[in-house]
Amino acid sequence: MLDDGTQISPTLARMLACDAALIRAVLNGHGQPIDLGRERRLYTGAARTAIEIRDGGCVWPGCARPASWCQIHHLIPWSEGGRTDQTNGGLFCWHHHREIEHGEWEAIHHRGRIWLRPPDSLDPNRRPRINPTHRPPPPQHHWPPEASGGPGP
Ligand SMILES: [Zn+2]
Ligand SMILES: [Zn+2]
Repeated sequence: MLDDGTQISPTLARMLACDAALIRAVLNGHGQPIDLGRERRLYTGAARTAIEIRDGGCVWPGCARPASWCQIHHLIPWSEGGRTDQTNGGLFCWHHHREIEHGEWEAIHHRGRIWLRPPDSLDPNRRPRINPTHRPPPPQHHWPPEASGGPGP
């Protein structure tokens, strides 16, 4: 619930927590705060600019939305110990930020690029994909390894 009383979904709450100055407050049944979190760390200034230059726009495969439409998603959530550094941030437009927070796709940093690993319902091998729209694709030997495992024998 936002401070004005608006009820939001867990996915939207994660999106907002990813790239906004939020303070988490856990309330008891009487609306009194029983736990106040610390204000989260954000990508600002040079750290934000560096990611905007690196990614050029939304990193979702096929998405053409430019950096100015994007938020910076923490690949490992800040609440789970993820750092606010270049290897843990990627540009996502509003639509795809919601998609990645939904949890089926996985975003990974590999050799200075952000890759998207699809859910096994779309690709049993979960082969990582890259968005070549804003930045040229890297040489093939820089591609990340495919997910190990997959369907069992
Ligand atoms: Zn996020
Ligand atoms: Zn996008």
